[in-house]
Amino acid sequence: MTRNYCAIVYGLFSNDHKPSAHHYNMQLDDILHFMKLGFTLHGEWFIRGLRIPRKRRGVASGGALPEEPATVAGRKAVDGTRVSIWFEEQKDFHSGFVRYDTEYVSELASEGKAADNDGDGSPMHYLLKYDDGDDEHMWRAIQVGIRNITSGGFIDVAHQNPLPSGQINTDNGKLWSLRDASPQDLLGISVPIFPEMEDIIEDTDGCGSQFQGQTNAGRVARSASSAIGVRRKSSISVPGHGKNHSDHEGHTMDCNLKELTLSNEVPVLSGTREIALALAQHRPEPTQTHEAKFSPWAPKDVIYAFYDNALLARAHQQFTPYKNSKFYHARTGMQKDARTAETLGTLNVNRIHCACESCKAPLYDYQNCLVKKIVGAVTQVECKRVRGTAVVTTQTQALADFSLQVRKGSKHVAAESRGGSGG
Ligand SMILES: [Zn+2]
Repeated sequence: MTRNYCAIVYGLFSNDHKPSAHHYNMQLDDILHFMKLGFTLHGEWFIRGLRIPRKRRGVASGGALPEEPATVAGRKAVDGTRVSIWFEEQKDFHSGFVRYDTEYVSELASEGKAADNDGDGSPMHYLLKYDDGDDEHMWRAIQVGIRNITSGGFIDVAHQNPLPSGQINTDNGKLWSLRDASPQDLLGISVPIFPEMEDIIEDTDGCGSQFQGQTNAGRVARSASSAIGVRRKSSISVPGHGKNHSDHEGHTMDCNLKELTLSNEVPVLSGTREIALALAQHRPEPTQTHEAKFSPWAPKDVIYAFYDNALLARAHQQFTPYKNSKFYHARTGMQKDARTAETLGTLNVNRIHCACESCKAPLYDYQNCLVKKIVGAVTQVECKRVRGTAVVTTQTQALADFSLQVRKGSKHVAAESRGGSGG
């Protein structure tokens, strides 16, 4: 029998805060980044006694950018380099491939001209082909100020709190052993788990729609064109309330916590992070109270994820709900084009989730659904950005602003490692 890889993530928040879409969105961000890239953006995650690194998008400070290669051969060698461009003003990244513009260079040579420069004397030898296929906006003035950032545009962020050390309990003299995961540790436990991930299905009960309307639907609409590049399909199953696998797992944490509290392993626990740390220390792997070892949903890993109150301070609604959200319970973010995704946030919606040959990944051909009579016709709705909230990304807009505002020192080009098979 083929076993699924199953992991349980317990997201632990202080009870000072009412559950909101913000809680959900932060945890989903973390789950996606952890699965595909091996780190989190927000929470303090523990797996098998190891603390997972936390990162954010940005450019590492310090270190001069290398000079543009001086020879044609040197410039050609840069061709095909994967780059991320950091737009300082937007605090945003865009990624693509450098193309050495041989056509342009030979054109110049035939006219006996030197390359244009960007105003600071730097020649313009390169094109940049962006990931979203935006050919119209290939950027000629890219100078290959390439800096190696192996993380591909993400930089390390310190965790909010230090790990505990020393004695856990003066009664038995046991010591804390939680530690930060090293790159070798991560490799050893196969993290990231799904580096090739392109599609996910979120199957939830109706709880999500109770908080702040449908603000997370706006994110679903934009996920394929976002930095993580994962197409999200979100399916809300109201009849599934109380019948999801996760309902059982919620109960198991209560059991484990109660058992731990009654044991002499730990002193009396008080505080959300204290509970996360104690579980990470003492119950680093799934226990017998989880599902039977050989069931398809038997968890291989258990993750304790602590979310500090400080992370919740910036909660706000970014996107408008979509029309008839009570009726359309399955929605997929199909937009790969960052331009339209940013403004419109179009979702393909349906009454219920369909996984027929046409509807499922990779086709997503809803028009030719094989069971349309049962699931109904698909339609499109929009989750527009709320006015006044920060722009998530618009590549075209960023590019237009960039061309107006660019100054030497305000842009950086960072080389990423070449993508794995299939990109
Ligand atoms: Zn279908």
